[in-house]
Amino acid sequence: MNFYKTRHWEKKRSIILRRDKYECRECRRYGKTTVASMVHHIYPREDYPELSLISQNLLSLCNTCHQKMHARTSHELTDKGLEWTKRIGPPTSLLP
Ligand SMILES: [Zn+2]
Repeated sequence: MNFYKTRHWEKKRSIILRRDKYECRECRRYGKTTVASMVHHIYPREDYPELSLISQNLLSLCNTCHQKMHARTSHELTDKGLEWTKRIGPPTSLLP
């Protein structure tokens, strides 16, 4: 089952985009307004499936910024991606 095709994800994704006013949150940090085209998992799904649908772990981004969060050849986070994990705190603090 492809997670990104599930109704749960579709619903959560639209909630997050609405929360972020359909704008890229990373661009906003630099005073730019860019339309968000996707929702990023701050802690990657591969490593933290339990955070897949936790709002605090989700972030609206433009494609350009999303590409800067992950290393090109793996799911590993870049320094920029890791910055966001620090901003939201440790994984255990995000669970209800
Ligand atoms: Zn952006």
